[in-house]
Amino acid sequence: MMRLDKLLSHSGFGTRKEVKNLLKKKGVTVNGEVQKEGKFQIDLEKDRVEVFGEEVSYQEFVYFMLHKPQGVISATTDNLHETVIDLLQPHDQLQEPFPVGRLDIDTEGLLLLTNDGALAHELLSPKKHVNKVYEAEIKGVVTKEDVIAFEKGISLDDGYVCKPAVLDIIETNENEGTSWIKVTIQEGKFHQVKRMFEAVGKEVVYLKRLSMGPLILDEELPLGEYRPLTLEEIEQLK
Ligand code: URA
Repeated sequence: MMRLDKLLSHSGFGTRKEVKNLLKKKGVTVNGEVQKEGKFQIDLEKDRVEVFGEEVSYQEFVYFMLHKPQGVISATTDNLHETVIDLLQPHDQLQEPFPVGRLDIDTEGLLLLTNDGALAHELLSPKKHVNKVYEAEIKGVVTKEDVIAFEKGISLDDGYVCKPAVLDIIETNENEGTSWIKVTIQEGKFHQVKRMFEAVGKEVVYLKRLSMGPLILDEELPLGEYRPLTLEEIEQLK
């Protein structure tokens, strides 16, 4: 059961105040009868709610793909910085989506935002080995030895030995002493990619996540923008 005003507000019909006006204007019917009380309880499985004759379809879960820019943090609230939630339109914040995992403040790329706790848990579970692919610019020339070391499992500064990771060298600029690489990791330790490169004496100067499991960053999505996942994308994640 859910209050009618909450249902309408979560379904994109505005703030509580706007919904109150809508109800007052007799714009809302429940099973064909005008309902003006916001506190009226709706049975989500049985009741048919219409706004000016159009059926309201309530979605319990929301799923957004965000192209995270640098400078925002992967949290729901913060005193200092803008968060990834601040990038969502107010009506998309109503169902309280949260970021699935974290990207550093200076990391760009794919971030999934959802209020589906079970799915988030599955995707983040170390047992599930969900592959995450990153693209990075590295200060230092990445070598074949580095590729082998990543394959064997890099030891981080705290002694943790990473699971095998696939390192692909895309391009190397010997004069500048830099490389572009792609790396696929299964885990999500704190600053993992940066620390893996530190372990081989190199520095990540730019980092972008391209995919997480089957979910691939939409190339059409500009930095800082987001879109709902398609039904197909949601199915693939489950
Ligand atoms: N690894 C990092 O070092 N930073 C990120 O944001 C993600 C992976």
